[in-house]
Amino acid sequence: MIERIFRIEYAGQLRYAIERDGKWRLVEGDIFSDHADGEEIPSSGHRLLAPVSPSKIVCVGLNYKDHAAEQNKPLPPEPLLFIKPSTSVIGPGEAIVLPDGVGRVDHEAEMAIVIGRRATRVSEARALDYVLGVTCVNDVTARELQNKGAGYTRAKGFDTFAPVGPCIAVGLDYTAPAGLKVEGVVNGTVRQSSSTRELIFSIPMLVAYISTNMTLLPGDIISTGTPSGIGPLSPGDTVTVTVEGVGDLTNTVRTQP
Ligand code: ZN
Repeated sequence: MIERIFRIEYAGQLRYAIERDGKWRLVEGDIFSDHADGEEIPSSGHRLLAPVSPSKIVCVGLNYKDHAAEQNKPLPPEPLLFIKPSTSVIGPGEAIVLPDGVGRVDHEAEMAIVIGRRATRVSEARALDYVLGVTCVNDVTARELQNKGAGYTRAKGFDTFAPVGPCIAVGLDYTAPAGLKVEGVVNGTVRQSSSTRELIFSIPMLVAYISTNMTLLPGDIISTGTPSGIGPLSPGDTVTVTVEGVGDLTNTVRTQP
């Protein structure tokens, strides 16, 4: 059974709700530890928020063979890691703000996992015990800054550069050989279309590798990299990241106010 955990605004409060077979129930308790089903609520009309407030988003660069080729970069021998700050997170429906004077800004559609339990130096064999579920991330990137050597943190760490959502899908078989479809769509045109079966480094490998470097906390996100087809965003665009089984993460794009 697949469950989708949403964070919503309900009766003036931030609440979690779980959807199963189209029925929504409020969550009583903590989604990372003890919790139970609460009252049933309508299945539509809620304002969705980013499903977690991560202490960090650990991203993997060049984890799809097709994207490495598109960037004219060799396949990395080990995962290339960088961090997007917690302050870059926005939820579904919020606007990605293009900073003044940074040049081209790209979308990067990514499948991401949400950590469910504190993880320090976990083995690849046990890694999936530490994963709560799957979500979508748009790893928005100031490409010109990145390409001129400004560093990944600066190019990818602007406020609003990490849309996350629309939910955490629990129970998806995201390590099956068939993979999950990952898409990036701008104004209705499919720009990125691939599958997690193209990943160079697997989810268990990444959890083990990253947790040997730094402790992962409940709610932290690992964004697993983007496939080919990245492209620029312009003011007024609507961009959607879709991961099979999770849903659509849609955001608008605007200039700095
Ligand atoms: Zn990325």
